[in-house]
Amino acid sequence: MAYDPDNIFAKILRGEIPSNRVFEDDETLVFMDIMPRADGHLLVIPKTPCRNVLDASPEQLAAVMKTVQKMAHVVTQALGADGVTVQQFNEAAGGQEVFHLHFHILPRHEGVSLRAPGQMGDMEQIAALAEKIRAAT
Ligand code: 5GP
Repeated sequence: MAYDPDNIFAKILRGEIPSNRVFEDDETLVFMDIMPRADGHLLVIPKTPCRNVLDASPEQLAAVMKTVQKMAHVVTQALGADGVTVQQFNEAAGGQEVFHLHFHILPRHEGVSLRAPGQMGDMEQIAALAEKIRAAT
């Protein structure tokens, strides 16, 4: 399947639609998920195009995983998380909805279940969490 340069994360990368950015380096960008399944739900993406793990280069994967690990540490510190769930989906049959490679980082607290997918978050709360996470990077 071909990469679609008009997918929503490509538009976020180009700044065509707003996002709550918390970290970036030369190769990756991290921003808040607008339908958070946990407080502080982050998305980590490469700045270069690929749909998912199936067409990503080893270099893209290495860059993204380095940032995934960094941000797992950051949310643990910033939000006092007891654990972190990392999720990643490939193609529609694999549960993927946005076709630009991304890893979900879900800060977890003992006894707190993930919320159901597909529910819009409170944007003020998301912005406040983004500020806390940004301050810990
Ligand atoms: P997946 O492709 O891994 O199944 O899910 C895509 C993720 O992107 C979902 O968690 C969804 O909440 C998130 N998402 C979809 N549209 C937007 C958007 O416009 N902005 C942000 N920040 N996240 C989005």
